[in-house]
Amino acid sequence: MPKRAIPFDNTYARDLPGFYEPCQPATVREPVLLFFNRGLSDELQLGLAGQDDASLAAMFSGNELPAGAQPIAQAYAGHQFGQFNPQLGDGRALLIGEVIDRNGKRRDIALKGSGRTPFSRRGDGKAAVGPMLREVLIGEAMHALGIPATRALAVVSTGEPVFRERTLPGAILTRIAASHLRVGTFQYFAAHGTPEQVRQLADYAIARHYPEVTETEDRYLAFLRAVAERQAALIAQWMHVGFIHGVMNTDNMAISGETIDFGPCAFMEAYDPRAVFSSIDEGGRYAYEAQPHIARWNLARLAEALLPLIADNEGEAIELATGVLDDFPLRFHAHWLSGLRAKLGLGGQREEDNRADAALGESWLDLLHAQQVDFTLAWRRLADAAEGNEAPLRALFAGQPGLDGWLKHWRERCAVEDFGENAGKPNADKARATRMRKVNPWLIPRNHRVEEALAAASDKGDLAPFEALLKALQKPFDEDLALARYTEPASGEFMAEFRTFCGT
Ligand code: AMP
Ligand code: MG
Repeated sequence: MPKRAIPFDNTYARDLPGFYEPCQPATVREPVLLFFNRGLSDELQLGLAGQDDASLAAMFSGNELPAGAQPIAQAYAGHQFGQFNPQLGDGRALLIGEVIDRNGKRRDIALKGSGRTPFSRRGDGKAAVGPMLREVLIGEAMHALGIPATRALAVVSTGEPVFRERTLPGAILTRIAASHLRVGTFQYFAAHGTPEQVRQLADYAIARHYPEVTETEDRYLAFLRAVAERQAALIAQWMHVGFIHGVMNTDNMAISGETIDFGPCAFMEAYDPRAVFSSIDEGGRYAYEAQPHIARWNLARLAEALLPLIADNEGEAIELATGVLDDFPLRFHAHWLSGLRAKLGLGGQREEDNRADAALGESWLDLLHAQQVDFTLAWRRLADAAEGNEAPLRALFAGQPGLDGWLKHWRERCAVEDFGENAGKPNADKARATRMRKVNPWLIPRNHRVEEALAAASDKGDLAPFEALLKALQKPFDEDLALARYTEPASGEFMAEFRTFCGT
C-alpha cells in the first residue's frame, strides 16, 4: 500500500542544516491509539479524516511515517535549575515535519518518546503512558483556557515496557507546536556554533514568529524585546489561573511564546504564592510567585546568546539588552494588572487607578493566602458576589475576618466605575458578573482528578476517566452542573502529599 502523504513543508530541515541530526524513530511492538485529536487534525489539514485507528496508531507511533516526513532531532542546550548544560537536544523526541494550518500558521508535528537519538545521552528515548496523557490533559486545558500552549494530536501506546522507578507501559505523544525553537536552541549555537549560525537561527525565528521586526534596523534587539513581550503576557496568564509550570529551564521556554513541556506542572488549589509541587524543585526555584522572575532570568540567557548580533561593541550590546531586560518586570506587571482587573470585574484601565487596583487585587490574594482559600473557586464565587449572591463566597472563608472589609472596598471601586449612565442599575451588576465568568474559570484540571485519570489509564488500561476529564476541560468557563465533581478541590491531605515528576 502506498504511504499516506501529509502536505509537509519542512523549513527547519531544509533551511537549517547543521542545526539537527537526521534520525529515524524506533519501531514499536504493538501500537494502539489511545487518543486522537480529530478537531486539531482538521485544523492542521492533515487529510486523515478517513483513517482508522490502526493506521493512525501506525503513523503516530513512528512505525509508518507518512510520506514527506523528515524526522530530525534538534540540537539545543539549556540551563537546568540554574546550571548550564551545553548538550541537551531532542533525546527522546523527533520533529517529523511542518504543515500550514487552516489559518495559514506554520506548525511543527513532533513525536515524543520515539526512541533514542544522537542526543539521548544515557536516556532510553522512551516515554510512558501516564506522563504523555498528562501532556494531553494539561495542554488541552491550557488551550481551552485561552493560554498559548503546545497541543496534543495523538497518543499511541507502544506495547513495550518503560523502566523507571517501576515498570510502566510505554507511549508516544504527537505534539503540535508553533515551533520547537527554545531559548536553549540559541544557547547551543552561541556555545558551540559560529556567530553566523546564531544569526541564521535568529533570522529563522524572526521570519517564523516575529515577521513584524524584520524591517527594523535593530532587528535582533527588537526580536529580544518581542520575545520578552510574549513571555510577559504568557506568564501573566499562567499566574491568573494558578498554573505552575514546574520546570522553567531555558530549554523549556519556547521562542514562540507557547507554554511547552507539561512534565511536573500543576494548577494551584489553595492559594499560596510559594506553592511548588515538583519533586525535584527542592529550593522552590520554580514556585508560583517565582515564575516572572525566572522568565526574566531565562530571557537574560537568550540576550547573552544574541549579544554579538545586537551590536559590534560588546559593552554597547550589553547596555541595549539590559534595557530590554529591565523593562520586563514593568511589561509583566502591565499584563498582570490588566488581567487582574478583568478578574475583579473592572473594565477601566486608567493609569491613575493602577496603584489602587493592584493593591485591591493584592489584598484579595493576601486574604486567600491567609485563609488558604481555593484560588479558582474564590474568583468564581466573587463573580456570584458581584450580582449580590455572597453566600457561596462566604462559605469558602468560613466566617473568618477580613472578607467584609475587602468586599466593601471592592464594591466601592466597582461603584466608581459604574458611576455615570449605569449608576445604580441592577444590570450593571449582572454585566459585571457575566464578564467575570468569562475570565475566571469554573473548571480547571484538579490535581486529584488528573492523577485518578492517569492511574486508571496507566495501571488498568481504563481510559474512561481520562476521556471524561478531557471532555470536562473543554469549556472551562461554562457552568455545567453535570460536571460539578470536577470542580471540587482536592483534599488537604491529598495536596500535602501531592508531588509531580518530570516524566523522564
Ligand atoms: P525534559 O525534562 O523533558 O525537558 O528533558 C530535558 C532533556 O532530557 C531533553 O534534552 C530531553 O530530550 C532529555 N530526556 C528526557 N527524558 C529522556 C529519555 N527518557 N531519554 C533520552 N533523553 C531524555
Ligand atoms: Mg523539555
